[in-house]
Formats: sequence, structure tokens, C-alpha cells
Amino acid sequence: MVLHAQREPLRLEELPVPEPGPGEVRLRVLVCGVCRTDLHVVDGELTRPKLPLVPGHQIVGVADDGRRLGVPWLGWTCGECRFCMSGRENLCVRARFTGYDLDGGYAEYAVADGRFCFPIPDGYPDEQAAPLLCAGLIGYRALRFAGDGERLGLYGFGAAAHIVAQVARYEGRRLFGFVRAGDEAARRFALELGCEWAGDSLEPAPEPLDAAIVFAPAGELVPAALRATDRGGVVVCAGIHMSEIPSFPYELLWEERVVRSVANLTRSDGEEFLALAPRVPVRTEVETYPLERANEALDRLRRGEVRGAAVLTI
Ligand SMILES: [Zn+2]
Ligand SMILES: [Zn+2]
Repeated sequence: MVLHAQREPLRLEELPVPEPGPGEVRLRVLVCGVCRTDLHVVDGELTRPKLPLVPGHQIVGVADDGRRLGVPWLGWTCGECRFCMSGRENLCVRARFTGYDLDGGYAEYAVADGRFCFPIPDGYPDEQAAPLLCAGLIGYRALRFAGDGERLGLYGFGAAAHIVAQVARYEGRRLFGFVRAGDEAARRFALELGCEWAGDSLEPAPEPLDAAIVFAPAGELVPAALRATDRGGVVVCAGIHMSEIPSFPYELLWEERVVRSVANLTRSDGEEFLALAPRVPVRTEVETYPLERANEALDRLRRGEVRGAAVLTI
């Protein structure tokens, strides 16, 4: 499924089977998760994709040598910039991203730099494993940046929050779910995932939070989350794109509250999270679509109708 121009539907096309270059592996794609970032690429909110582009960066596939591997968003880094040299390859100035700078997994075959692929933990069916590769990994990085506080707020109950909620419960935290006012389905989903309270995202929870993670791409949630957070609390913005954050009074930030973003992932995030996921154990809830219905999966995600994560099956 190929993107030729942003804000146009993907087109089903026959492409040659890609040949792996030096250091690359070729995968027969089994499934590919659909991430909100894919939507930002298709809809033009991320402005510099390679075109034409095969989107998709939560690839589970079988390599030519028979290993089952996952391919994440971080597709290549330079290894020599000051970020790469200081354990922050997620910030590499020359990084290339799967399904953005590099063709991704909305296809029958993909090639990827072998150094950036992860073995998929045994015991995970392909379609359940796919959302671990971005929703899970980036959600996990966001959770680490949220600190060790007990009372955690999650804003937006999509693929990432439904995984992070399970990890946070496993760590013994108390969870508060914030959803769009009137979205009863999302509110129930948040409660099923172990939130002790779930309600309107623009109102505070019954008690102050130690940390909040904002997954929904809505800037107005940042001051709302600060307002819901106790002194010393942290608000982590986990998405790659967000609408403009409205101005807010300094007193919302005062008392050492922190707002920060999370960008991309490092390979060590991947190794840590994929070792942790089976211990929790993280169970992902997925809706599957055949590859040629990728546009429909993206539409449902755009309308906020996907429960858990959407995954394309090839
Ligand atoms: Zn670099
Ligand atoms: Zn993603």
C-alpha cells in the first residue's frame, strides 16, 4: 500500500521484492501495526516523508534466515553524532525512520537494517506482538520519564495507553484515565484496563496526580494535565505531533512541575521493554484488517474508533 501524496488514500500496487543491501535483512511481512504516526504521515502533519512511501513501522516478519523479527520506527542512526555518542540515539540528527524516510511494512516484503531489528518474544502471536513495537516501546519510554510516582494519569486511551496501563498496574501504580467527555466506550475501556477512575480529560481527577502521560494529540490537554498534577509532578507528551498548546498561567507550572516530550526510541528501550512485556504479561487487544484495507484502518483510527490497536495482516 503506497502513499504517493499526502492527504490522499494509499494505493494498492505491485512492487518488486526489495533486495537487502549490506547489513540489511529482508523480511516476509506477517503483520504490521497501524500507528497514529502513520496517520500524521498520511494526513500531512509530518511534512517530510519520502514519496512514494510504503508506510508502517510496527513490522513483524520472517527474515530470509527464518528468524521472526520486529522492525520499529527507529530504522537507522549515524552512530557518530553527539546524541548517538551519549546513549541518545533516539535524538540522532541523521536518524532515518521506518515508514517515513524508509519504506515500511504495509507490504508483503520489507528490508531493514539488521542492527535495528528486535527478536519477537516467544509466546506472542504475530498480531499481538505488532503493537508492542511502537505503542509499547514509546509508551514504555514515556512511562520511564514519568518517574516512579504512584498516581499516574493517562490521557487518551489508544494503543499506547492500553499497553502502558498494564505495565503501570504491574508496577503497582494507581491509574486514572482521562478520555474525551462523553466517550463512554473509551471510559469503560480505561476502567477495564485497571484505572480506578476514568472521566473527562479537561477536569481534574478525584485526587492529584504524581505524573501524567498525554498520548492524545490535543494541545489543550497539556494545561489540563498540569492542572491535574500535584506539586513536583511530571507531564510527559508522548506523541510525535500535537495541536498547538494554549497559553496557561505560570502557577500551573510553578512548584517544580515539569512538562517534557518523548521522542522516538533507543534500541535499549526495545530490549528492555520486549524482555518486560512477557513478564507482565502485556496482552494487546487488536483489530485486524487485510493489507488492502489499510485505508479503512487509518480512517477508523482517525475517527477514534479503534479499540486497542489496529494491525494489518498480510
Ligand atoms: Zn547520530
Ligand atoms: Zn508509531
